[in-house]
Amino acid sequence: MSAPTVMIADDDEMIRAVVRDGLENEGYQVVEAVDGPAAVELCRTDPPDVVLLDVEMPGLDGYQVLTELKGDAELKDIPVVFLTSRSTMDDVVAGLRGGAHDYLSKPFEGAELLARVAAASHVKKLQDELQERNAALEELVRIDSLTGLYNRRYLDQELTRRLSDSLRHGYPLSVVLFDLDHFKRVNDIYGHAAGDQVLRAFAGHLHRELRPGDVGGRWGGEEFLVILPHTDLDGAFMLADRIRSATAAEPVSADGQSITVTISGGCAVGPFGSVEAMVKLADARLYQAKLAGRNQIVTAATPPIG
Ligand code: GH3
Ligand code: MG
Ligand code: MG
Ligand code: MG
Repeated sequence: MSAPTVMIADDDEMIRAVVRDGLENEGYQVVEAVDGPAAVELCRTDPPDVVLLDVEMPGLDGYQVLTELKGDAELKDIPVVFLTSRSTMDDVVAGLRGGAHDYLSKPFEGAELLARVAAASHVKKLQDELQERNAALEELVRIDSLTGLYNRRYLDQELTRRLSDSLRHGYPLSVVLFDLDHFKRVNDIYGHAAGDQVLRAFAGHLHRELRPGDVGGRWGGEEFLVILPHTDLDGAFMLADRIRSATAAEPVSADGQSITVTISGGCAVGPFGSVEAMVKLADARLYQAKLAGRNQIVTAATPPIG
């Protein structure tokens, strides 16, 4: 990990030089801002890990800079340590209320400066680690562990978002529901582990055939859903049929055995109604594909057979 960066924002050149010296000796990277607006600008272009902030500066004072930083979602977690003379103690109290991490009274001792910066830098490091862990967890709750594809929960959210977006902007939105054919037999003949292997292999086809912007995932069991923004029924059919033929053409090897599987699919083009209504129509067409003999994609309701 690289050394923490500390920004010193002070209109006094001497103070900036002293702080820079002390911190660089301890291995910190130091950047300087000569006034309030420069401090905000620097934070936006290259956020530091800690901000040392003078209270009395031309342009924007420290208190106003703090307000700017706290109002910016990207910058609000950077610990701010105020540098203040006694006469501005009231501002410091207001600053602490406004979210400052700590303060240092001018004139300050080198050792105290280092101790306070180290504490602020430690808080920032813990926060960064927590944020990374949260991001990893968020990724986990949207992923299906067997296939590595998006799970139903995420597909549901995503389809809701895409549906309202396509309604608002007036572009077509297609969904395709796939279901593996006679999958129960695969489990019965080759075993559940081989069945899992087949599900993973199909996930691979889905992953390879989808374009950036398409969203595919596991809807449940041996059913998979694909969301295709900006795609009409012809486009949806072409993509779905490519996935179908790739699946049928490539037997899956599991436990030294070669397993040929096929899939059926139903497409619906919207936007219309609701997420449920769109998936329901795709499901009705999937059912038609099953009735018509499986290993096929249905885009429009065919007359019921029998
Ligand atoms: P159809 O062609 O009509 O879809 O027939 P099917 O046998 O695929 O349909 P059915 O709904 O009867 O069976 C689905 C099977 O999928 C039953 C279930 O045990 C199996 N299955 C669901 N989830 C998993 C899984 O995670 N792993 C494995 N190995 N099998 C699964
Ligand atoms: Mg000043
Ligand atoms: Mg099924
Ligand atoms: Mg099935």
